[in-house]
Amino acid sequence: MSTLIMKFGGTSVGSAEAIEQVGSIVQSHNQDWEQLVVVVSAMRGVTDTLIRCAELAVQGEEDQYQSLIEKINEGNHAAMEEVISDGAEQQQLSAQFDEYIAELSAYCRSIQVLGEVTPRGMDTITSMGERMNAPLVAAALRGQGLSAQAVDAAQLIVTDDSFQHANPIEDETRKKVREQLQPLLSESIIPVVTGFVAATQDGILTTLGRGGSDFTAAILGDSLDASEVWTWTDVDGVMTADPRIVANARVIPELSFSEVSELAYFGAKVLHPKTLRPIIERDIPLWVKNTFNPDFAGTKIIRSSPSIEGKVTAITTIRDLSLVTVEGRGMLGIPGIAARTFAAVARQGASVLMISQASSEQSICFVIPTKTVLGVIQSIESEMELELSRRDIDRVWAQPDIVIVTAVGAGLRNTPGIAGRIFSALGDAGINVIAIAQGSSEFSISIVVAEQEADEAMRQIHREVILNG
Ligand code: ASP
Ligand code: MG
Repeated sequence: MSTLIMKFGGTSVGSAEAIEQVGSIVQSHNQDWEQLVVVVSAMRGVTDTLIRCAELAVQGEEDQYQSLIEKINEGNHAAMEEVISDGAEQQQLSAQFDEYIAELSAYCRSIQVLGEVTPRGMDTITSMGERMNAPLVAAALRGQGLSAQAVDAAQLIVTDDSFQHANPIEDETRKKVREQLQPLLSESIIPVVTGFVAATQDGILTTLGRGGSDFTAAILGDSLDASEVWTWTDVDGVMTADPRIVANARVIPELSFSEVSELAYFGAKVLHPKTLRPIIERDIPLWVKNTFNPDFAGTKIIRSSPSIEGKVTAITTIRDLSLVTVEGRGMLGIPGIAARTFAAVARQGASVLMISQASSEQSICFVIPTKTVLGVIQSIESEMELELSRRDIDRVWAQPDIVIVTAVGAGLRNTPGIAGRIFSALGDAGINVIAIAQGSSEFSISIVVAEQEADEAMRQIHREVILNG
């Protein structure tokens, strides 16, 4: 049984024309697959607006949140009037929108009364974007002569209660997805499923985290043993670098799961970082395609891409970081300093992105988000009070405004010389390398540079190891 899951992101359903474009894409692939499932995000900007409504409600700004709700309402109706011509469909949708909008105002009002919004409350509010959009897209598809039906993923995806970033419970989800979707699919009806949204076993709404519709598509792909998952977005695929920084960045035709995991980890905003989890095990290929350039193939993500020796696939950055150094001659040979340092970091809830220690053992360096630096330094200083007073540790300090630039590529494995070429390119351009790290997976090399040199570092590395191959 060939099954395709297609997910359309916020910009793909961001306007009436975009929704029509979605219709023609679905139309043109419908015949090629025995079963087709569509997953949709909220319309562009709606999730942000919903979050803003909740925040304004907390602050008691009733006029302001009411006017944002009205804006969402107008957006819904404007899109509906443009894409749906059937009178009965319009009436039904309009009634549905009114219900959601009334619900949304009621939630905001209760947030205002309570003066706070819980993560659970936030999920109920943010889920509205997808829940309003799926019926609209389903009606638009029907308008193009397809049989389609909106499905609320709260009926399909069962999660724990980690509100705002809930984790799916695999077996129950699989069971529900099959129970709910199979009857539609066997009648050749295309389910149009809300992305991002899920529910606990008790039916309380949850969400999968910002950008979570990709994850929804992958979860459905897993549950239905799909042949492929396609995520439609507004770019041609995964790029070798951010094209706003590296002008000659290009689309990567094929990427392996492990390469894209490094990219997701290192902040490439292509896919929700959890997207690959459900599909890796079942080896389901995932394509990233452009709604506005549908004839372009896009990027295919598969178990193992042909790893060309020495090939770097992409360059990414993580910004707003600081490098913390714990240094002192008395650290040499004292066991437990590293463990205590990182325990102190962990107590602040800071995530460590990179660690290095020289073999002289006179310093430990690590990179953390700048917003966590103050707390982390205080926490280490109090942990090391004794060592500091004895001068075994001289100081704990941070260098702000640094960036991690990472080169990712399966071809880095067992290929000598790549790191050398990267450093020469940076050296020739006069860029100072502050620290380096390579994971033992050898799918990436990371280099720490100063913020003001990061863009140039990206361009140099891109030129040296991607364009020159
Ligand atoms: N609408 C949600 C968000 O903006 C989920 C998604 O777009 O994938 O984060
Ligand atoms: Mg997205």
